[in-house]
Amino acid sequence: MKFYSFLLFVPVLATSTNLIAQNLQEPRPYEIAAKQIIAEGLQSCWAFSMLENLSLKIGPRLVGSSQAAQAVEWGIKTMKDLGFQNVHTEPCMVPHWIRGPIEEASILTSDGKIIPINICALGGSIATMENGVTAEVLQVKSFDELKSLSDKAKGKIIFFNRPMDKSKINPGEAYGGAVNQRGSGAVEAAAVGGVAALVRSMTMQLDNVPHTGSMHYIDTIPKVPAAAISTVGANLLDSLLAVDKNLKVNIQLTCQTLPDVESANVIGELIGTENPEEVIVIGGHLDSWDKGHGAHDDGAGSVHVIEALRLLKELGLKPKRTIRAVLFMNEEFGLNGGVAYAKRDRPGEKHICAIETDAGGFTPRGFGVGADSIAFPKFARWSYLLDPIDAGRITRGGGGADISELAKLGVITIGLRVDGQKYFDYHHSDNDTIDKVHPRELELGAIAIAIFSYVIAQEGI
Ligand SMILES: [Zn+2]
Repeated sequence: MKFYSFLLFVPVLATSTNLIAQNLQEPRPYEIAAKQIIAEGLQSCWAFSMLENLSLKIGPRLVGSSQAAQAVEWGIKTMKDLGFQNVHTEPCMVPHWIRGPIEEASILTSDGKIIPINICALGGSIATMENGVTAEVLQVKSFDELKSLSDKAKGKIIFFNRPMDKSKINPGEAYGGAVNQRGSGAVEAAAVGGVAALVRSMTMQLDNVPHTGSMHYIDTIPKVPAAAISTVGANLLDSLLAVDKNLKVNIQLTCQTLPDVESANVIGELIGTENPEEVIVIGGHLDSWDKGHGAHDDGAGSVHVIEALRLLKELGLKPKRTIRAVLFMNEEFGLNGGVAYAKRDRPGEKHICAIETDAGGFTPRGFGVGADSIAFPKFARWSYLLDPIDAGRITRGGGGADISELAKLGVITIGLRVDGQKYFDYHHSDNDTIDKVHPRELELGAIAIAIFSYVIAQEGI
């Protein structure tokens, strides 16, 4: 643009009433601090470099494993190096299940074909016998359907093939509508005489990658092996069953449950300058499944909370109330860390809220606040601080698994909400690798937590 044409624009710009009003407007409370946090975070994108150390250098962190123990050490060192206060661990006992070297399956058709399919053991499953379990298959979409077909179930592999409901806007809701097959499939299968549970992977993605996750047994019902089958494998098995009802499936698993081991939550703080006894917890979980890198679930959450504290410290923003980062141990397989944290006696302390990030390192959209109608507006009033990063959607209802025990004690629990449409493409599978995490999206999550926890620490509720 030449100089004279620029001059022509000046009167137009100067008479813009909006602009004048904006220039005259005083910044609203904490807007300057929020802008500093956003600028510092996006400039450095420090969260991603921490995620590389946790998810790539250490790798997946199945509870009870040596990698989980390394992650505890990493958490302590990282927080100490960053100069956080009161860095320490709080011990808890955790289960130690291992996947074992073999997890294989094949469809054996009536005309003699052997078709390999991709499976993986569900967390907590027993192994099969040495050559695996081989049986005909009963496909069902629900536990009710299984009960109605119970006379046909004896000696069969029960194939739970109800997909996640794609019509749901919130993928988490679709997951919630399907995941009982994974958690309770083995119990329901064994209750009607089934010899194994084969469960459609909890994803809407059509691919060849099985997704693991926790399952359970109950003492009064025999234990049978349980595995996840990829969605491509599930569709193939479904189509072959339609033409060959007597086909068989062979499943081989070598997983094992070893004695419980001691592990720990990792904790670091910025101690409040005026009301240190009032605590805002910000937490993610340090453990992951043993698939992929545990990058989105929940390496992202672990680095979110460390980065949130780092941003405040780096900028010299001193919270009046204590902000405590907690890296919980074993969200995936029993919540031992969350239970231990809530049970621990903390004389003189009052938790005013707990914020959990366990929905992946995607672009943040806001927070779900599990507060009643009186307390909720005290959180929602800060949405304008998060609007510049499009994360100002503060809605009622929220929390997280690790902080669910605190909720039972009356603590207000809050969950970071993210743009999670892709989350279950990766969740609990070999797809959950660090290349699926974008450094800026990850950082924005940390920024949102830093802003929200800081303003709560300053103003209380
Ligand atoms: Zn998680």
